[in-house]
Amino acid sequence: MNVVVLLGAPGAGKGTQAPLLAARLGIPVVATGDLFRSAVRDGTPLGMEARRFMDAGQLVPDEITVRLLLERLARPDAAAGVILDGFPRTGVQAAALDRALADRDARVSAAVLVDVPSEELIRRMSGRWICRAAGHPYHETSSPPRAAGVCDLDGSELYQRPDDRPDTIRVRMDQQLGALAEVIDHYRSSGALRTVDGLQGITQVAAAIDVALTDAGVAVAAGGPAGVR
Ligand SMILES: [Zn+2]
Repeated sequence: MNVVVLLGAPGAGKGTQAPLLAARLGIPVVATGDLFRSAVRDGTPLGMEARRFMDAGQLVPDEITVRLLLERLARPDAAAGVILDGFPRTGVQAAALDRALADRDARVSAAVLVDVPSEELIRRMSGRWICRAAGHPYHETSSPPRAAGVCDLDGSELYQRPDDRPDTIRVRMDQQLGALAEVIDHYRSSGALRTVDGLQGITQVAAAIDVALTDAGVAVAAGGPAGVR
């Protein structure tokens, strides 16, 4: 069973890579949010427990999250493994996951970090503008409007939400990168960490992930690394 942990800061492109990697490895992506939602929807005892915390606006305790994850791993579609996206989020969670997997004679096969410098992350995240009339989204570099400050579709003014402003993003990013650094340290110590350069294009990052996984002993699907045909 391959348990692949995908790591990356918000804006690093991890969310783009996860489904692509799932298709190449033939195993599902398990995102923590989906885990909670499906357990709550199915009304499992653990799901009900998780729901109490969510309803109270509290974080679901690590112990419950790990147990939910183990339930998910026991489902037939995960027999060959899973890609974890969004978990573990802290060093404590990473250690809890290791213990739970060890109980089942399993371990994290590879923790792949899609690495993007924080200044670039802030640039990517802070370029978002939306229009006043309908919230049509734009991005300074990746999808700019035809005329600066004006919506292409309805001519209304573009503005930045407080959450999308560089100073807000910098503060939030510092908090998230602190937790991510703990997780990175954990997998560096365990030897599972592999780092790929996230500044490349989507295809190049995918190919680099395949190389990193092969290096960690995870068999990538026949047909070779992404982009090599
Ligand atoms: Zn608009």
